[in-house]
Amino acid sequence: MIENAPRFLVQYALETVPRYTSYPPATGFHDGVGLQTWSDWMRRQPTGSNLSLYIHIPFCKSMCWYCGCHTTIPNRHDRIARYLDALDADIRRRAGYAPVGSRVTCIHFGGGSPDMLESAEFAHIMTRLREQFTITSDAEIAVELDPRGVTTELCTAMADHGVNRASLGVQDLSSEVQLLINRVQPRAMVEAAADRLRAAGIRAINMDMMYGLPAQSRERVIATATALAEMGADRISVFGYAHVPWFKKHQRAIPDSRLPGASERFEQMLAAAATLGDAGYDAIGFDHYARPDDPLAIAAAKGTLRRNFQGYTTDSCDLLIGLGASAISETPQGYVQTIADPVRYAEAVMSGADMLARGVERSPTEFATATRLADLLCRFETELAPTDNVDALAPLIADGLAQIESERLVVTALGRPYVRNIAARLDPALRLAENRHSTAV
Ligand code: SF4
Repeated sequence: MIENAPRFLVQYALETVPRYTSYPPATGFHDGVGLQTWSDWMRRQPTGSNLSLYIHIPFCKSMCWYCGCHTTIPNRHDRIARYLDALDADIRRRAGYAPVGSRVTCIHFGGGSPDMLESAEFAHIMTRLREQFTITSDAEIAVELDPRGVTTELCTAMADHGVNRASLGVQDLSSEVQLLINRVQPRAMVEAAADRLRAAGIRAINMDMMYGLPAQSRERVIATATALAEMGADRISVFGYAHVPWFKKHQRAIPDSRLPGASERFEQMLAAAATLGDAGYDAIGFDHYARPDDPLAIAAAKGTLRRNFQGYTTDSCDLLIGLGASAISETPQGYVQTIADPVRYAEAVMSGADMLARGVERSPTEFATATRLADLLCRFETELAPTDNVDALAPLIADGLAQIESERLVVTALGRPYVRNIAARLDPALRLAENRHSTAV
């Protein structure tokens, strides 16, 4: 165990709690919200709003056994081409709902693996986005990439079309873990991908790593965190593997017997944090790390950090349009998600039907709760409201995870790994027994 590390508090580590990348969480989405509701919300947005776009590419070359994303493995490139026709039509249709005078300041390509696109396909999407939206010259344009698919040609096309940040999925660099998760990508391959991106001019590089994977140990987590720091990642996300084989059937390929237990997961998380801290990274929220000169660290220091579906972000937009299958859009009034199945999504778009399948309206009270939860998760403190259930907080305060200072709830250093547990006590809608979220650690 690391000296002076926070204590492992098993009752909290094993609680299932939302990730709070949205509020209300996506588990509250229902099919009563569609295009009509979303268009009503969009009409209420002020002229000249800043906009964020999310583009979902639901394809990968092969399935990683730990995957929790909306993705598929296409057997032929035709399937991707048909999907892109629908995505193109969706962009043209829904750009019409953007407020007059709005400007796009953030674009994020996620998946799946956007590197499944050919260079010309990526270029076509960017050209269409620039035709349909006003994109600011300093917009952040970020792309999630699988290091195994990062070619020089694609890097050049992405850079030519304004991509200025890339996120490489690494997870763990030991060959045994990589075999067990069906994602073999030695360190040299990850390094080569980062080098190609930088050579093309995409200099801001994020890397993702995980703990809690099969055959992972504290030593392997330290080795991976050290390697990512040596490769010069600007930001590193450290996510705990959520093993939910009853929900994600391919996860059955991961033998339960090889998974670390709850206290090992906790030690792995702490080991990653200590390694990255020693390597000069600032801790951001509860699972991100950034070099002190990275905009994420600067936003955290200034108190302007936000949270969105990708985790912690500098994106300050209140308006998000999600394009592509399973993509979520957000307005202050609520969330709406497109049809998750790529084939059904494409059929809906191409036939002129409603491509939005589900969502949730957000009351002004829920919006206020969302703001307070974001305060807690991004700044580790928030104002207490008269309606808060202070009794529910009492055990966490007694355990030293939080304290009340002049009507404000403040998370202690011990409580930071458990900030989602603390947030859950302020969430009036949450039933902790629900087994639809991931464990806190
Ligand atoms: S590359 Fe990413 S999205 Fe694709 S299967 Fe692996 S984890 Fe899932």
